[in-house]
Amino acid sequence: MSNRKAVGIDLGTTFSAVAHIDAYGKPQIIPNSESERITPSVVLFDGSNAIVGTIAKNNTVAEPEKIVDFVKREIGKAKEQFRREFSGVAYSAEELSALILKKLKSDAEKYLKTPVTDAVITVPAYFNDAERTATITAGRLAGLNVLQIINEPTAAALAYGLDKLDEDQTVFVFDLGGGTFDVTVMRIEGHRLEMVATNGDHRLGGKDWDDVIVNYVAEEFDRAHGENPLLDLQSYQDLQSRALSAKIQLSSRERTTIVHTHNGKSIRLELTREQFEQMTRHLIEKCKAICEIVMAEAEMQWTEMNKILLVGGMTRMPMVRAMIAGLSSVPLAEDVNPDEAVAVGAAIQAVLSLLNEEDATGEKMLPAETRQQFSSRDGGLIQVRNITSHTLGVVLWDETQLEEYVFPMIKKMTPMPAEAKNSFGTATANMQRAIVRIVEGESTLPAECTPLGICDVALPPFLPKGSPVELTYEYNANQVLEVEVEAAGNCASVSIERKTGLTAEELDRATAALGQLIVA
Ligand code: AMP
Repeated sequence: MSNRKAVGIDLGTTFSAVAHIDAYGKPQIIPNSESERITPSVVLFDGSNAIVGTIAKNNTVAEPEKIVDFVKREIGKAKEQFRREFSGVAYSAEELSALILKKLKSDAEKYLKTPVTDAVITVPAYFNDAERTATITAGRLAGLNVLQIINEPTAAALAYGLDKLDEDQTVFVFDLGGGTFDVTVMRIEGHRLEMVATNGDHRLGGKDWDDVIVNYVAEEFDRAHGENPLLDLQSYQDLQSRALSAKIQLSSRERTTIVHTHNGKSIRLELTREQFEQMTRHLIEKCKAICEIVMAEAEMQWTEMNKILLVGGMTRMPMVRAMIAGLSSVPLAEDVNPDEAVAVGAAIQAVLSLLNEEDATGEKMLPAETRQQFSSRDGGLIQVRNITSHTLGVVLWDETQLEEYVFPMIKKMTPMPAEAKNSFGTATANMQRAIVRIVEGESTLPAECTPLGICDVALPPFLPKGSPVELTYEYNANQVLEVEVEAAGNCASVSIERKTGLTAEELDRATAALGQLIVA
């Protein structure tokens, strides 16, 4: 048996968690070296040390200039668009995420007393190609073989459904975390777990609720003392952490008091749950609208849902639960831990990936009992089927409007693996090359979509205008898109893989640079 050890990682906006499958086939959360089951996704740069977790989080007020948090909101951006500099070194969102992953990996190794080689990392279902690619890169930079990237709601449904595979059911996964919001309808049938529809907003989460309190206190402070406390970074960070704890208190208490001191002046405010709920009504309304959109996209009624799975720390808030109860009378799944379900699901997927690898290579990696534990009554290994979360299209020329537009080849919500073929005519006579521009996004305007790549084929001379160009898109289960173009007997293809976005050389250089930091 090979000695690979795979874990599941929920790389969250505010907190991250790691899980594995133990020797008895049971999913377990791996505590970090501070004995906590979740680790704050916060990095503190201290000379040649990068400190990740609670110690870093506790320093956000004292040393805000040395701290990075909410990096997940930036992942997928190039270094020119987002970077943070410490001791003269600029770090990209991928590199900062890699530091968090390094800490999770090394703590897991200490706890398990074995090297962790492989991981499944979760992402919001709504993440686009660049964001997924950057997450893989972060994993590689942290020294992990990323078996797969899976959607957070799929992971939550896997964690919930593992011991219920023999009951066919449809579940509604509502995931409101620190920075992102995702809703997904999943169908569990036989040994299959299928995504039916998904939608979300990855700039909507707990932080927006915190910001409402921050702004309220700042306005009152300004009214009382004629000074904006948010202009000072330290005061801002302090207010943020006070707002966060006020929000959490209001989940179990009817009222709370917030005290904020800045420049020797202070303010003391009472905030009731009712007031807070009114102030943040627009945010909950956004969540509600997205729930309704996803039900319409799934073409299903609430009466067809068997359970609602609540994931993410924010689902502890009474106003979130009240909104959900107002939408339908579907019961909540009580056996789901909102902080841990996603990491547990990722750990299950990690084992499934290794079992599939065993089937493909014949190499034994796991004890024989594990296969049984991850199979349903009919003996089949659990299969997870995702749908595409964005449309994959091609840029074409519109003859009548004289402008470019995007033709959707594989539409959003198509089950994966997906294939689409279409034939188009060349735009002019005697075209030298057929250049196919591949994009991702729901808009028909090329500028509003994300370019994924180009597939370019040479054409023989003197082809008349409108000569057929055959285009094939194939999107496999691992979310690698293969595009083939065929015209006048010539053929070209490209594989738009979730490559790291960095060349092998750049990856090595970045890994070495991060290796110089001591991650604790
Ligand atoms: P996650 O990204 O899933 O870890 O979610 C963390 C978010 O949930 C943060 O915005 C927390 O402030 C928030 N949160 C955690 N516990 C509670 C609670 N009891 N009441 C309200 N919000 C909470």
